[in-house]
Parts: sequence; C-alpha cells; structure tokens
Amino acid sequence: MMSSLPRGKAEVPKNLSILNIGGHPKDCVLYAGGTIAKHVHRGDRVTMLTPYTGLSHHLTAINEYRDSSKMPDMEALVEERKKELENASAVLGVKDVRFLGHDDSITTITPEIVSDIADVIGDVTPDIIITHWPDDTVPAHGLSTKMLLLAIDAAAGIRPGKPYRPFGGDTGGAASQIFYHDQRGRTNILESLNPRMPNVIIDITDVVVQKAEAMNCFTSQNYGERSNLQRKLGEVLDGGLAGLHTRVPYAEAFLSHNPELYEYLPLSDYRIKRSNEASTEHISQMLL
Ligand SMILES: [Zn+2]
Repeated sequence: MMSSLPRGKAEVPKNLSILNIGGHPKDCVLYAGGTIAKHVHRGDRVTMLTPYTGLSHHLTAINEYRDSSKMPDMEALVEERKKELENASAVLGVKDVRFLGHDDSITTITPEIVSDIADVIGDVTPDIIITHWPDDTVPAHGLSTKMLLLAIDAAAGIRPGKPYRPFGGDTGGAASQIFYHDQRGRTNILESLNPRMPNVIIDITDVVVQKAEAMNCFTSQNYGERSNLQRKLGEVLDGGLAGLHTRVPYAEAFLSHNPELYEYLPLSDYRIKRSNEASTEHISQMLL
C-alpha cells in the first residue's frame, strides 16, 4: 500500500525573519517602510541593512561645501547618516540596523561587500529579503542586489553551530523569497527595457503616517517636518497606480524573485475583501 509523503501542516514560520536592504540608507524606508511597519506590528523580526554610507548623497553637506568651500568632517557625516537610519528604523519599530559603511561611489562588485552581506544573511537567516530591482540603473541600487545574489550563494546555509538551512527556492532550498522594489531609481530608457510589473502589492494605508514620520528622520536628504518632500514622494510612489488599481489609497509594490508555490491557483482573501467593499472617495476614481 502506498503511503503518501508527509507534507506537514503550516510550514510558514510563525514569525518571519525579514532582511530589508537599501542601497542608500533612506532606501530601506522609502521603498518598503510601510511593509516593514506592518510586519513589525504582526510580530515579525526585521533587520535593516545598507551596505554603503550614502555619503555621495549627503545633499545638505554637498550644498554646504559648494557654498563655503570648507571640507566637512567626513566621519561625522557618516555617523549622521547612520543615526538617521537608526532613528527612522526605530519609528517603524526596528532595532536591528546593519550599517556596513562602504563607500557608495561604487562601480563594480567587490568581494568584501559580498562577504559582509553573506555574514548578515548567516546571522539573521531571513525567510524574506526585500531589495532593489537587480537592473536598477542607480549603481548603488543595482550593484547591491547583484552582490546580495552572490552573497546568498556564498552564505549557502552554513551557520556555525546551527542546522543547515539554505536560502533560496532557486536551488530547491527552504521556503524563502526575495521581493524586489517595483519603483525605479531613475526615469530612463534602460529602466524600461525590462518589463517591470509588480506581482505583489502591500496595502500600507494604515501605516502611511508612520512611514512619513520615519522618512522625516532623513534630514540630510532634505526630508523633515517642515519639508514637502515626503508628502510629494508619498503621493508619487505609495499613492501611485499599483494602489489605485487595487482600490487602496497607499501601497508598496514588489516583484517576487521565485515563482510562488501553491497547491491550487491562488486568489487572495484580502483582494476579495477589498473588491467587495463599496467605493470610497479614495478609491472610486478609476483611470478607465
Ligand atoms: Zn538610493
């Protein structure tokens, strides 16, 4: 008599470990801060990781140097960018921030950064990784994802003293997924050569104010309570088409790296619930 293979019951871990990567410090929040806030509220464990100092984009320091010609204290500027990410992460409820401190004027893959990212993967053993699209034409974005993909192979599930647990459905390993940001780092033809259609949309409407407060920690990038920047970007990015077409006011959109595995064709309960709700002033305007 044939016995069926044990399939297990709920295999998804109760509390997920999520590694959220931003090429520049603020990218951790700008592109996924709402999603992170929701997972923290649910009890998941989140680590923020940025490989670079973000110093080439310290906009207020660059302006100051242009106007005064006085060389700034570079170490203090790096510390300031680190602190901004820590403060913004704290607003979202995240304490684990890995600021690797590499120069972000990067032109190529470097083994040292790959190794540093692999160490973090080994340490936090993520179920989910969030990061930039691999061909994002901002070098610090695309390259950090390319180095991440190498780091995943380098980490290869080997953790001293812990059970073997390879990351990546690519290689038939444990359940795991990478979600790439749908947002473009730049607006140019190269960004459009590969079709980028989000296949996962997270409704962040209930945490959008919390995300705005986190973004306002990045004062070196001209964000802040008195600045209109967050309001503008919040509407352009989170209030964009992906949200509008799914009938939610604010959303973050992603593309999954691996095809997801189901027993049957999926239709999400949340989508059905939202579709059955009456139109509101926020979501009644379709573009058809
Ligand atoms: Zn960036």
